[in-house]
Amino acid sequence: MIIINQINQQRLWKTIQELGNIGAGSNGTEEGVTRLALSLEDLEARKYVIQLMEESGLDVRVDPVGNIIGKLEGKDKNAPVVMTGSHVDTVYQGGLFDGALGVLGGIEAVRSIKESGIELTHSIEVVSFTDEEGTRFGTGYIGSKAMTGYLDEATLKLKDANGITYAEALVQAGFDATQYKLAIRKPEEIKAYLEMHIEQGKVLEEHELAVGVVTTIQGPVWLEVSLNGHPDHAGATPMNMRKDASLAMAEVMLEVERISTTYQGVGTVGKTHVEPGGVNIIPGRAVFSIDLRHGDKELRTKMVDEVNTAIKEICERRDIIAEIDMKKAVDPAICSESIVDMLEESCAEMNIPTMKLPCGAGHDSLMMTKVTDMGMIFVRSKDGISHNPKEWTDEEDCAIGTQVLLQALIKLAK
Ligand SMILES: [Zn+2]
Repeated sequence: MIIINQINQQRLWKTIQELGNIGAGSNGTEEGVTRLALSLEDLEARKYVIQLMEESGLDVRVDPVGNIIGKLEGKDKNAPVVMTGSHVDTVYQGGLFDGALGVLGGIEAVRSIKESGIELTHSIEVVSFTDEEGTRFGTGYIGSKAMTGYLDEATLKLKDANGITYAEALVQAGFDATQYKLAIRKPEEIKAYLEMHIEQGKVLEEHELAVGVVTTIQGPVWLEVSLNGHPDHAGATPMNMRKDASLAMAEVMLEVERISTTYQGVGTVGKTHVEPGGVNIIPGRAVFSIDLRHGDKELRTKMVDEVNTAIKEICERRDIIAEIDMKKAVDPAICSESIVDMLEESCAEMNIPTMKLPCGAGHDSLMMTKVTDMGMIFVRSKDGISHNPKEWTDEEDCAIGTQVLLQALIKLAK
């Protein structure tokens, strides 16, 4: 397939800057972009997105939970739509690109198609999903959950720090929380979902590649482990008479590293706490988190099993009592093989070098994969930094990713 269209790099970059100005230095923060979902800044960003979609010639509607949907009508109105999108809400002091690139790149790609006059069979919808980050209420993917039928009453009853429920926050922002089920899209209405997102890691940079094709989204398992030993005197207790919970934790941490490496997954102990916490007291208790991720659910289960076995073995040997609590288990998502192939083919056609890689973070695509074929394009992040004012992706890389998105959308919708 020849390249039949080009995106407009300067125009795309201008929109990234303009959207980035909304919420810049807000909420008393000096740096970065703060547009918490349903905040005034988010509402302003939504206005910007709607205006840009309209300028680009898309038909815009907003569903009951605030998902903004811009549609380029295809020749066959009954054919399932090809969907692309991401989010424009941010964390506290976030960057210019997380989420924004997927929405603005999607608009730019569809605008280019519209301008070129190419007629496609399937309609294309660009979606800006509500509250991907989940910063305010502690749970994210609200818009994509609503669209796929996974939003529930319990989530709408969650309260923020000021005691405002999710449902109230939606109403305050001008949406109709009671009608959230009307946001559901049937699987047969959607042909595929494609999301372009910054990588938020260093793999593409390491390989000197502007774009990558995602194969799987690694779902996390979170364990909370409590190890109970005995808090004895650090001077009076010989080494062979101790029940040191901290040492047991250290052994578990090394096992998490070994097991994750063996299975080619990732494992992290990110939160630790030892008690009583005195310089001259042997730690009697250690409480810590374990985050285990893998793109393959079966292999992840094996990782979890091996970590459990290791904890048991270490604690038996050290005469320590362990409690393990599974706090969260999100299923990994596998990208559609045909979309992965098509994205690689698209890159090859445009002489854009690329690689396949797994995705470590969660995205709206994690929800969309429950109802349709899903694929993701990753764009290089400078130094892998994200959720931070220093988050950066070069103008040219944004354009290359968007060019791949454009080519892929044309193929899916033709
Ligand atoms: Zn994001």
